Amino acid sequence: MRNVPLSRICLDGESWRVFSLEREVEAPRDEHGRVLARDVDGNHLIPTVSEELYEKGFRVEWPGGRRFAVCLTHDVDWAYPPLWHVKKALEAACSRHDLGAALLWGLGSVSKWHLYNPYSLRQVAEIEAGYSATSSFFVKATPRELLDERYERYYDLEFLAGELNRLIREGWEVGLHGGYLSYNNPEALIREKAILESVLEGYKAAGVRMHYLRFTYPSTWLAVETAGFKYDTTLAFPDSPGFRNGMCYPFRPVVDGREIGILEIPLAVMDTTFWGYMRLQPQEAFGLISKIAAAVEKVGGVLTILWHNNTFNELLYGEWSRMYRRMLSHFKSRGAWLTDCLSIYEHWLSFYG
Ligand SMILES: [Zn+2]
Repeated sequence: MRNVPLSRICLDGESWRVFSLEREVEAPRDEHGRVLARDVDGNHLIPTVSEELYEKGFRVEWPGGRRFAVCLTHDVDWAYPPLWHVKKALEAACSRHDLGAALLWGLGSVSKWHLYNPYSLRQVAEIEAGYSATSSFFVKATPRELLDERYERYYDLEFLAGELNRLIREGWEVGLHGGYLSYNNPEALIREKAILESVLEGYKAAGVRMHYLRFTYPSTWLAVETAGFKYDTTLAFPDSPGFRNGMCYPFRPVVDGREIGILEIPLAVMDTTFWGYMRLQPQEAFGLISKIAAAVEKVGGVLTILWHNNTFNELLYGEWSRMYRRMLSHFKSRGAWLTDCLSIYEHWLSFYG
């Protein structure tokens, strides 16, 4: 079937209600002001709108004829471990009689994480390099404020600067992890973007994901546009994997009948959803992720994954930490393009505008 541009395909009825987020206007909000999947009707595990677009002839061509894309992302909530993580790690090391791990954490702690950092971004990039993949790191640049406070004590942009600049030189992406209070405040996002870029050697942050996945329609999209970002990748449910507006294709959000000047790359899978909200075992989560990936593959879409940098620590996160490699092997065997948000953005623009 001939390729049809997304903008020429009309959505109506239920599809429009899902795509435009109309179905969640009346939904209650949780204590962080977020809409949860459990309060919105429909099957969130299926990209229903993308399926309809696919049936109507929309096709995506991925580089090298790949079947679909996997967009790998990491929200850097911790630059290094907070004290209570150190305590948990030492307890875990003792209960396993793992003297080596205990010594490493001790060395890290006394050297202020310069000699050993269990949450280092480098270890993440090294894993990805083994799969010829890159990813996006979303980094906080928020002045101390409500609910970010407990993080700020363990967050130092200067500490991360050397690592971030090296990752950028090697082809990884660095974006902004928008502050808890900044998700619909363009001035705050402009300030944070400038703070982040002040430690990045001439590099401009193209995209943003909001802390706690805080997102309000349409103010978050408008704030992201006003702040000068090229894309947002916040749209997701915190309590369920899947597709908040039925889309696994990137798209230009529509606000008051206008396609605004950013691309949304919807998020489908977040690590903390599985243990924090769904109380799943790693094996069950992997089954669910594989199902969702198959649904994305069917329509040649994008599966965006959020795996926090701290989840890579095996001592604290065990099977969840090892699952990342397992996912990458699986996606690669299915013919996916494993890449970062900016590469998706640039590819999308060159084909679809
Ligand atoms: Zn966060």
